[in-house]
Amino acid sequence: MDMAKTSDLWWKNAVFYCLDVETFRDGNGDGVGDFLGLADRIDYLAGLGVTCLWLMPFYPTANRDDGYDIIDYYAVDPLYGSLGDFVEFLRTARDRGIRVIADLVVNHTSAEHPWFKASRSDKASPFRDWYVWQDKIPEGASENLVFPDKETSNWELDRKTGQYYLHRFYTHQPDLNVTNPDVREEIRKIIGFWLEVGLSGFRVDAVPFLLETEGVEQSMEMAPHDWLRNLRGFLGRRRGDALLLGEVNLEYEAVREFYGDGGGGELHMCLNFNLNQAFALALVREDAGALVHDLRAMPTLPQDGAWANFVRNHDEWSLDKLTEAERQEVFRAFGPKPDMQIFGRGLRRRLPTMLNGDQARLRMAYSLMFSLPGAPVLFYGEEIGMAENLEIEGRMSVRSLMQWSDRENGGFSEAPAETLCRPLLKSKKWGASAINVRDQESDPNSLLAWMESLIRRRREMPEIAFGNWSLVPISDPAVLALSYDWGERRSILIHNLASDKKEISFRLDPAQGENSIVDRVGGDDITVQKDGAVTLSLAGYGCRWLKFS
Ligand code: MG
Repeated sequence: MDMAKTSDLWWKNAVFYCLDVETFRDGNGDGVGDFLGLADRIDYLAGLGVTCLWLMPFYPTANRDDGYDIIDYYAVDPLYGSLGDFVEFLRTARDRGIRVIADLVVNHTSAEHPWFKASRSDKASPFRDWYVWQDKIPEGASENLVFPDKETSNWELDRKTGQYYLHRFYTHQPDLNVTNPDVREEIRKIIGFWLEVGLSGFRVDAVPFLLETEGVEQSMEMAPHDWLRNLRGFLGRRRGDALLLGEVNLEYEAVREFYGDGGGGELHMCLNFNLNQAFALALVREDAGALVHDLRAMPTLPQDGAWANFVRNHDEWSLDKLTEAERQEVFRAFGPKPDMQIFGRGLRRRLPTMLNGDQARLRMAYSLMFSLPGAPVLFYGEEIGMAENLEIEGRMSVRSLMQWSDRENGGFSEAPAETLCRPLLKSKKWGASAINVRDQESDPNSLLAWMESLIRRRREMPEIAFGNWSLVPISDPAVLALSYDWGERRSILIHNLASDKKEISFRLDPAQGENSIVDRVGGDDITVQKDGAVTLSLAGYGCRWLKFS
């Protein structure tokens, strides 16, 4: 693959940054983050090295699920600014070389959406079939509840018309009926609209639920995956470089289907929940075994496909793929108190608090995530080591206010503190007076400075994005070593998950062993014997990014 072709596949080498405009920066002083404030911080994000922003939903909403309950797909919530403010922000981002994608939440709408209001008003409404209605809860209806703490069923009786509607998420989020061609046409139009406005694609919410036709009486005239392929084709015709990044939290084999069989043609990327959960277990155990096991199980992707890797995201740290014993092991280490856990399957904390602020271990964790096959996704505030705010309910604890400075409201807003959209984190150790962008920008040893250099290093090693990877056998179970090869380029990335120092050795192809090695992180000397044997040392939680030239 030559460089020109790889720049077409920009997502494979992107550094993603997910943020909620509401909690990032308030530009007009009303206590709510907005596009004016975000536009003002684009240079900060460009300086960090971010190449693609992922915006959480910013559309008008009933706001009972933090914007994932939409009432108008073709507008910007006035709390965050006007469509004009949005376009000014997009233009600024593009000028700084940053693409923008946004959440596409079309599995369901808000119950307050005019479509649902019309649908529930009358069985004869032209919008009736836009949602999924049944006289009775279907036999064998799925009992897998997404929010088991709040819901007891996926079906809700609507008294007026005496039928039940399907809601895979909250009761106030009725599922759209994608077997209805009018609904599919509307979804196509929503995608087309935002591409025209200037988005570079979408993070598609809850893809398996979107494609699922359970409980729908009429069947779709095309297979759901063919519809996804059609959408991808449409996307590509409208905007050749546009991306579909999917939320598909399933086992590997099932996730692979969402890329399209063989040659692809459906989603370009999926968030790698499998690897993320193995990552959690490996961190807790200080043992790379869970990661090795998961990497070996990872399916091969189409040539233009990639994984999106993350440490923490905007939701709970879901550990639903671990065994009960493994999950309890992670809970004990990273979230022993009941209010740190949620849904019986996850943790509502950010990483720095889980690691008790251990800088070496924290940096190793991010270095390790950046070294895994795929493109890294940061969640806002991770670059400065922000904590969660457990005062905020449920999964929202990690969607706390961005900490810009030690000034009033952590530099988030000039509004009176009691009017802020989220409570400030009142903690001497973790609050904005201790952890903020301003302080770290002037400290060359800060996490922010380190994260900038990590991103630079990752961007300068495109073999991680485009090359073939393999595991380098290491006898010490605490150490993971990944080798990437891409034409003349080769690198080996080594991480010590344990707190104690390690001496390791491995063997290179003797022909390559003679070449010089540059360590992009720094560290003690490396010895390469004539036969290709390499020995080196790793500090506790040490990272080595070896580049062979
Ligand atoms: Mg505002």
